[in-house]
Amino acid sequence: MKIIFWGTRGAISAPKPDQIIFGVHTTCIEIRNENDSLLFDAGFGIGRYSDSLPNKSGIYHLFFTHFHWDHVQGIGYFIPIFLPSTYLYIYSPWTIERLKKQLNYYFDYSFGPFSSIEDKNLSSHILYNSLTGPVEMNGFTIGFFGTMHEGNCYGYWVAYQGKKIALITDHEARAVDSYKFWGTDYDVVIHDAQYTDEEYQQVYRGRGHSSFSLAIENSQRMGAHTIILTHHEPLRTDAELLIIEESLRQKYPDLRIILAREQVIYEI
Ligand SMILES: [Zn+2]
Ligand SMILES: [Zn+2]
Repeated sequence: MKIIFWGTRGAISAPKPDQIIFGVHTTCIEIRNENDSLLFDAGFGIGRYSDSLPNKSGIYHLFFTHFHWDHVQGIGYFIPIFLPSTYLYIYSPWTIERLKKQLNYYFDYSFGPFSSIEDKNLSSHILYNSLTGPVEMNGFTIGFFGTMHEGNCYGYWVAYQGKKIALITDHEARAVDSYKFWGTDYDVVIHDAQYTDEEYQQVYRGRGHSSFSLAIENSQRMGAHTIILTHHEPLRTDAELLIIEESLRQKYPDLRIILAREQVIYEI
């Protein structure tokens, strides 16, 4: 499997010249096998993903963790959605009715370029799927679990050829966490780590995001040796993130700790 982060930032895209290494787009993560891809969330990163496609139309599988703005705002820049030969399968544990209502609410005509996600002018085929348990497609098995974050948020797990990845984009990890329900057999955990430990303790406790230490300790409890931290604080610079990454590697020498960089391919 390969993991590609098309968006790594939490909350807002924050383009500044000192944020080139880790990137500036909001969340979109691709998991790819030899032939097929799964997409998780449609922050502005999904626009960069579609820019990269040689053929824009096709079949796409898009899983939503939740519907905070930073996880849906890129869908109008996902070029395949305007093409008649595109089939976009949308997945969420939410009911189809609630899913449609939420997306139509975001994309009413005042936001353009389409009057709703079901607009007749939007020529692609959009197919909604409400997840009730694990699903299998293109060799992947995908399941979900609830996370500690406002907005009825979910994490996902993806298994393929004996490897298992967890995607936890938005979650406030606690000392006693939900890992007992999520499993302890992960090779890789992708985890929300928006705050430094000091920021978390002094300001952001209870905001629905994790500190670096809480994210790593939660991922460790889930069995992961490779831990990829994402949902970077919007204004954090490359220089700051590089220093944090190095200090975490020194603090946890037995783990492979990576702060997610946009458009870098991570082989699993
Ligand atoms: Zn978020
Ligand atoms: Zn959120």
